[in-house]
Amino acid sequence: MEEKIKILIIEDNPGDVRLINVYLKDYSGDNYIFSVADSLSKGLNLLSQEEFDVIILDLTLPDSSGLDTFKRAYEHSPHIPIIVLTGLDNETVGMNAMKLGAQDFLVKGSIKGKELNRSINYSIERFKLLKAFSENTKKLEEKTLDLIIEQQKLKNAQKIARIGSWDWDIVKNTVTFSDELYRIYGLKCGEFIADFNSFINMIHPEDREYVKNTIEDATQKLQPLNFKHRIVRPNNRVRILHTISQVIADKDGRPIRMQGTEQDVTEQFHKEELEKLVLAATQSYNSVVIADSTGKIEWVNQGFTKLTGYDLDEILTINEGFLKNVHNTEVPGQNDFFKLIISEKKPITYESKNFSKNGDEYWVITTLTPVLGKRGDVEKIIAIDSDITLRKKIEEELHRSNKIAEESIKVKEQFMTNMSHEIRTPMNAIVGFTDLLLKTKLDIEQKQFIDAIQISGKNLLVIINDILTFSKIKSGKLIFEQINFRLSQVFSSITALLLPNAKEKNIHLSSTIDSNIPDHLIGDPLRLNQIILNLVGNAIKFTKQGEVKISVELISQTDDMLELAFSVSDTGIGISKEKLSVIFEEFSQASSQTTRKYGGTGLGLAIAKQLIEQQGGNISVESEIDKGAKFTFNLKLKKNLNPGFETVKDVSCGVEDLEGLKDLKILLVEDNLLNQILAKKILSNWKCSTTLAENGLIAIKKLEKEDFDLIIMDIQMPEMDGNEATKYIRTKFPSPKCNTPILAMTAHALAGEEEKCIHAGMNDYISKPFDTNVVYSKIMAILKKNNSI
Ligand code: ADP
Repeated sequence: MEEKIKILIIEDNPGDVRLINVYLKDYSGDNYIFSVADSLSKGLNLLSQEEFDVIILDLTLPDSSGLDTFKRAYEHSPHIPIIVLTGLDNETVGMNAMKLGAQDFLVKGSIKGKELNRSINYSIERFKLLKAFSENTKKLEEKTLDLIIEQQKLKNAQKIARIGSWDWDIVKNTVTFSDELYRIYGLKCGEFIADFNSFINMIHPEDREYVKNTIEDATQKLQPLNFKHRIVRPNNRVRILHTISQVIADKDGRPIRMQGTEQDVTEQFHKEELEKLVLAATQSYNSVVIADSTGKIEWVNQGFTKLTGYDLDEILTINEGFLKNVHNTEVPGQNDFFKLIISEKKPITYESKNFSKNGDEYWVITTLTPVLGKRGDVEKIIAIDSDITLRKKIEEELHRSNKIAEESIKVKEQFMTNMSHEIRTPMNAIVGFTDLLLKTKLDIEQKQFIDAIQISGKNLLVIINDILTFSKIKSGKLIFEQINFRLSQVFSSITALLLPNAKEKNIHLSSTIDSNIPDHLIGDPLRLNQIILNLVGNAIKFTKQGEVKISVELISQTDDMLELAFSVSDTGIGISKEKLSVIFEEFSQASSQTTRKYGGTGLGLAIAKQLIEQQGGNISVESEIDKGAKFTFNLKLKKNLNPGFETVKDVSCGVEDLEGLKDLKILLVEDNLLNQILAKKILSNWKCSTTLAENGLIAIKKLEKEDFDLIIMDIQMPEMDGNEATKYIRTKFPSPKCNTPILAMTAHALAGEEEKCIHAGMNDYISKPFDTNVVYSKIMAILKKNNSI
């Protein structure tokens, strides 16, 4: 059954109410239920109590009239359709009521049943429709609003989270950015709508290749992406972004789009880094200090407290000037380090000595590392100290012991120098005087004794020389000369020197030089002399009869170099196989009987070997017991391509002709009384006239007054030594007196001594104790060269 329509009639005229009643009843029977109110207030009252489907409202009521009546009713019950009744004269009010929301208006007096009925039904239906429509509209509006809010929220969220999004249309190759992404890239909104390449160009150059490859790879494999990379903003600031993206493919699986978000994680990244750092620092055994850019300490770790004795609270109270005044004492440039780190923004490492709270000294190696802020300037400085006290102590200890070692080497050297001087001077006298004594009348026994003294003296000299050379080798102080010399002269001086020994033993001594070898060479003739002398000395010593041969052969040569093989062979006692390998070792001899029988120290071969090897050569020996021995050594020597000047070392000339120096005026400069007597005696034997000067100064004075043919000059003297005196004569005296030949007499025989003499301007030198023959031939050579004789 159909529901009845409930109608509220608000009408004060009972006639009109009845009329409406009748019309409606006539037309649709009892389909309607009526309620009536004769004033607006009563009507509104009823509306509050009951539900109605429609209101028929007379606008002219006892308590309200006109449009106002409608307004009040509509306001009270906007959900019920209202049909207004107006008088004949007042249709406009009806129209206006409809504009305000009335469903219809009827003019009293012209109402008919049919119209009234239709108006009521239409009003109800239309109102329902309107209601539904307005509800829908409202819902739609709400939804739109929600959407707008959502979008705004998303924008805000992006802004807050610093997440921007992008959309890359792979097919069209365009990239669009969200507002926040523009901000993240430091661009103005909308400034950038471009292709993949210009997007890639904004990536940090160091990350560009990686990002490009990663994205291209992901698009091919249709894989999502999740990685971090850096970008460079137009103002050159670097930011770190976290990218998450996915690829969208078409139905055939071809990539058509890539969408992604980028989150600016720069601060977070730095924070994480700092957290990691702090964590590491806290756990570190090293001392870690974090200071602000002015050097003010903000934090220290346990390691620092352990090292320095100061804890964080103390540091924070002392702070100002802590590093300078309390902690650190010996880093002169500490302040500059801070300045440098602020300006350069690079880590600095330095070592420094410090004092802990209880005054203990300790050393650290410090690395200052700047922590850069957003704008790229130094915000914090991290100082990491490693305790290097132990290392420093060891270094110091090492340094000290090195110094001591150096010192002791020096002392040893000085000792050797002094000793050799002290021994040589009296030895000079012994050898010299025995020499003189031998030339006097002696009976046979006396001659034997003196011979014995002379041989012992000479042997002693060899030993002293060996020990001296050996100590120089050991202390690494051996220097080899590179001077011009003649090979033939070295050979002849050796034979001249050893011929008497050989003759005495009836041994034939011979020497041969390969005719292909040029005579003028560059090298150290003294050392070469020493080596050969040693080998020949041994050969004569260990040979009873037969011969000793010295020879040199050319092995190879270049334009300016020669390789020579020197050999010394004898027909002596030979060396057993087992001993062959040890004879070159220092202090070693082939048999324990050797010393007793032949003398020697076992140093000769060790020295020869060193002298050869230090010049780049090598030595070897072939021998069998009783079948003699052959020592061979190779040496490389330079050719002297411009021969002309050689220091006078010819010791073999004119030894026989002892009259050659007759009437020569010689100035003997010598402070040692024994040497004075000795030299004077020798010179008088040669019929020279000798004037004595006790030192350089006296010598100069004497030379000023008198001319001399030759000056024999000692080196070590009081007042003015030989070198000084020579320099003075060579530079301060007028010609030709300044050119007076000077022969040095040195007792040192140390490396450098001879160069010093030559450098001072001496013509040649002889070392004490001297062989009179050598002195004689040297003097002859000098004078010949000077054309004095
Ligand atoms: P020293 O001759 O002072 O003993 P060296 O070092 O010169 O010391 O020689 C070491 C040892 O080698 C000698 O003691 C000797 O036993 C042996 N020796 C050296 N040269 C010869 C040689 N020509 N013939 C035999 N033995 C030699």
